[in-house]
Amino acid sequence: MRIAMVSRHASPLATAGGQDAGGQHLHVAEQAAALVAEGHEVRVYTRRDSPTPPDTVSTEAGYQVWHVPAGPARPVPTDQLLPHLGEFGRWLAEQWQHGGWRPDVAHAHFWLSGMATLHAGRRTNTPVVLTYHDLGSAHRRRSGGRDPGPRGRIGYERAIGRAADRVVVQSHDELGELVRLGVPRSKLTLVPAGVDETLFGPTGPVAPRDPARPRLLTVGRMRDRKGFQDVIRALPAVPEAECVVVGGPPAELLPADAVARRLTALAESCGVADRVRLVGAVPRDELAAWYRSADVLVAAPWYEPFGRTPLEAMACGVPVVGTAVGGITDSVVDGLTGDLVPPRDPRALGGAVRRLLADRVRRFAYATAALDRIRVRYSFRHWAEQLTAVYASVSGIGQVATAAA
Ligand code: UDP
Repeated sequence: MRIAMVSRHASPLATAGGQDAGGQHLHVAEQAAALVAEGHEVRVYTRRDSPTPPDTVSTEAGYQVWHVPAGPARPVPTDQLLPHLGEFGRWLAEQWQHGGWRPDVAHAHFWLSGMATLHAGRRTNTPVVLTYHDLGSAHRRRSGGRDPGPRGRIGYERAIGRAADRVVVQSHDELGELVRLGVPRSKLTLVPAGVDETLFGPTGPVAPRDPARPRLLTVGRMRDRKGFQDVIRALPAVPEAECVVVGGPPAELLPADAVARRLTALAESCGVADRVRLVGAVPRDELAAWYRSADVLVAAPWYEPFGRTPLEAMACGVPVVGTAVGGITDSVVDGLTGDLVPPRDPRALGGAVRRLLADRVRRFAYATAALDRIRVRYSFRHWAEQLTAVYASVSGIGQVATAAA
């Protein structure tokens, strides 16, 4: 199939782990790569936010990235992109009509991409699949009723969910949220993202560590909602253990980072400063070594639409203690591949981590079950096959071939 992926603000060429690059960039890059490996032709369309890169870039993984001129060629905050949507959608429609390459299906990532893609899809008769990644209604609930920007977002999200041919959701939690929003259940298909098993596996280099000191690892962007502060608050209840925090800005910029400074001050006030280590951003191909060096991965966000880091740790054979929020309630099976605790509850977190560190047999059992779960449910192959089935059902393409066969 010819598959257009539309990701207005999250370019697969951007790196992750920095202040603003998050899982969505990686998701788009990995989904495109997984689909190419399955034999599809993939183009990713993203907004041009710099004058320098060429119009199209061919990646090593075999997909192309197209830079779409819509709005100024410089970074624009996501919630200020709305005025440039029409331009983006018209450009896509023009390309698909007259550019010599017409997609069989278009998969939009994030609601803003969904609006532009639906515009182009309607004009070119291209079926549209949508993945939200993050929902305004979930933001509103978390912030005690305050509407997320830009104005009208939740209404738009409802409308595009109803207009899309299919919505691919990442977790049961998101599925429930969308049903409550008013998107018909028949449009929703659960296809969680896969883990790159060529990068994340149980064997390979291990980051240096003190063998005498249990290691908790927590990984992610330095945002309050990632809950690193709760991990530090839990540490006094986990004697001896060190807590390694990977992510945020590069190590040399940590001293100037506001969240990093708050975490350091918190560690001091909790009396655990000598057991907390902020590493800063780690390149993706070095992350597995950090996961493998840990006894437990702690993922303590207050909210997490999907949550890649627990899955990456599981693929490396590391048990997870996570908060029971969003996608983590799907990926971590409580009592089988890890333990789940309520969010924003350092006491519960500390207790769960302490008990798991004291029980080597249970850690081994969790790690083994986690590896199994990744192989069966979260491989790239499985992910690409499930997406292919969704695309076939909205475009009719694969289905015709199957019926003929
Ligand atoms: N990550 C990375 N380097 C870092 C920290 C994080 O490559 O120093 C990656 C991590 O492996 C994961 C992603 O960034 O794949 C973060 O995804 P997650 O779903 O945990 O959070 P998001 O950033 O989407 O909120």
